[in-house]
This record gives sequence, structure tokens and C-alpha cells, in this order.
Amino acid sequence: MKTLGLIGGMSWESTVPYYRIINRTVNEHLGGLHSAEILLYSVDFQRIEELQMAGRWTEAAEILTSVAQRLESAGAGLLVLCTNTMHKVADEIESGISIPFLHIADATGEAIRYRGQSIVGLLGTRFTMEETFYRHRLEERFGLHVVVPEESDRNLVHRVIYDELCQGKILEESRKEYRKILHRLAASGAEGIILGCTEISLLVRPEDSPVPLFDTTEIHARRAAELALESAS
Ligand code: GLU
Repeated sequence: MKTLGLIGGMSWESTVPYYRIINRTVNEHLGGLHSAEILLYSVDFQRIEELQMAGRWTEAAEILTSVAQRLESAGAGLLVLCTNTMHKVADEIESGISIPFLHIADATGEAIRYRGQSIVGLLGTRFTMEETFYRHRLEERFGLHVVVPEESDRNLVHRVIYDELCQGKILEESRKEYRKILHRLAASGAEGIILGCTEISLLVRPEDSPVPLFDTTEIHARRAAELALESAS
């Protein structure tokens, strides 16, 4: 089994499910008391968030690349960046290491194609919904058509992520708002909806949506575990 190197802490609230899903997946495959070989480097998210808000992405990339290099030196055989948003600097991180990097949008795109869908809604931070680094990857590599909520809905989704979910606040009022947005995306033609922020599945459940949900935390963590198991090293 390959050792997984996780860059977590963005936020730590969603790193907890990553840890659980990876270990459970390995145990489902190997049984007994088997669990995953994991190296976790959990960053201080306040520092990263300040760089995001200031648009200082190069500095954020430098921090995460240095973390990735430390994980590689410590013996990780596959790198997993446990957030969608910071995949904005995935190319920089990937070019700084020599171990494979499992891109969250690739794992998600594969899961959506496997399900046979082609028009998908996307919820996430404003960076993920509005910039091209995530949507274009899904469109260009997987032939998907990605739709995002209207501006006021995007603002609400973004605010709830940073002000509530990343701080462990799970509010019924926000679940109701998200539910309305899921319904509006489905009404606009989405056959499925990507929970493109690793904290959203702490709030939203499949029954909140009229169409299937693609939870990036679950998909990314499971795929990482499967890849770790495929390797004999
Ligand atoms: N975890 C979130 C994501 O998947 C948002 C926090 C962040 O900005 O990294 O995008």
C-alpha cells in the first residue's frame, strides 16, 4: 500500500471526514484491522485564507509546495490536497514534487462521467465557481457543461462556507438556503450538482437535492484510498 500525503486544514473541519473515508475505504478492501498509511500535514487556515482574500496566490502556492515537499521527503507516495479552492495553485504544487498528485477535479469528473451525466451544477467558494481553474478542467478533460448559481446565490454559498462551515457551525437556516439553490440549479438544467467545496457535505445531504450530488470530499478521499491500494509499494 502506498503512503498518502494529505495537505489538510483547509479547513480542518473537512479534513476529519477525509481521514475517516480513506481509512474506511482501505478497511472495506482489506478487512480485519487494516487501515490506511497516511501522513497528514494540517496547515493553519487563517494564514491561507488571508492570502486568498488578498489575492496573494503565489505566496499561498509557495507555502503549500513546501508542505508537499516535506510530505514527499517523509515518504508519501501520492499527494492529496484536501480542498477544492487551493487547486487554483495545483500546477505550482505539482511541479515542485516528483510524486503523483491526485487532482480533485479529475476524481470528480471521472465520477460524473461514470454516472453518465453531462450537465452539472457547481457549488463552492466564489474562486471555485467564478474562476476558470476548476470549471475549465471539468469542461476540457471530461466534456462536461458546468452551470453555477446566480450572483446573489454565489455570495450566500461563499459566505456560509467561510463564516459557518469552516468554523464548525452547521445551521438549519443555511441548509434551507442551500436547498433552494440546489433546486434552482436543477430547474436550470443541472442533471447533478457538484459539492465543490469540501465542507458543504457537512451541511447538505442527498435528500436536500432533487438531483444526485457529487460530494468532492467523498469522491476525492475514496479515489485516493483506491490508488494507494493499487500500488504494491
Ligand atoms: N475547503 C473549501 C474548498 O474545498 C474551502 C476552503 C478553502 O478556501 O480552501 O474549496
